[in-house]
Amino acid sequence: MRTQTVTFRILRFKPGRIEPPRFMDFEVRCEPWMTVLDGLEQIRLNQDATLMYRHCCHHASCGTCACTINGTPALACANRIADLQADIITLAPLANHPCLGDLAVDMTSFFLEMDPQWANVRICEGVTVERIPENSHQVLRLENCIECGCCVAACPVTSPAEEFMGPAILAAMNNEIRNRPAAKKSLLRMAQDPTGASKCQRHLVCSQVCPSRVYPARHIADLLRAMGKPIPPKKSDQ
Ligand code: SF4
Repeated sequence: MRTQTVTFRILRFKPGRIEPPRFMDFEVRCEPWMTVLDGLEQIRLNQDATLMYRHCCHHASCGTCACTINGTPALACANRIADLQADIITLAPLANHPCLGDLAVDMTSFFLEMDPQWANVRICEGVTVERIPENSHQVLRLENCIECGCCVAACPVTSPAEEFMGPAILAAMNNEIRNRPAAKKSLLRMAQDPTGASKCQRHLVCSQVCPSRVYPARHIADLLRAMGKPIPPKKSDQ
């Protein structure tokens, strides 16, 4: 891999200043190790200090830098520019979230829907650990929703016009049922809301884009089963 120049084509929006939103191009000299987030930082440092984006941990643990990368919701810190194999990287804010400016979206309502009492981290029985480090007796894969919002952005059912709880909250509900069976009845009542699990159309893109392997579509199927509802066929099979 070599140093290359890549065009970052960014959908810019600044209330009162850049309206309506429009794409702007930035040429970035990229080293092979650089991630999309590194590229954004280069632009902000060297070309345009007004560029807005959210970021924090730089290692796929906080979910903050999620945005739409070449049409797919993803974490900017977890995608290497070289791996995208593109001369132009198109960046836009996450869909289905209000845009504050450029790539920064307002996550307030998303966070408020997540009950802070629910445990996010749990042992994941659905995914095996491929390589167990030497001298380790046991390795557990943990499932941990990092509340990035990628699944909500990718879900074709979720939109500002459609009342749907969305994949992240439904996955969190099912997670909580597994962790706290005593709360099953009240949580299932919540999932049975007309805006809840039964609105899922099984597009499964939530599970495809989730950077934390939560597989929200599986959780939604679990909820439907527990509610005694049929699981619709995958959208791709219809
Ligand atoms: Fe992000 Fe996955 Fe949690 Fe959705 S379920 S918010 S994609 S970590």
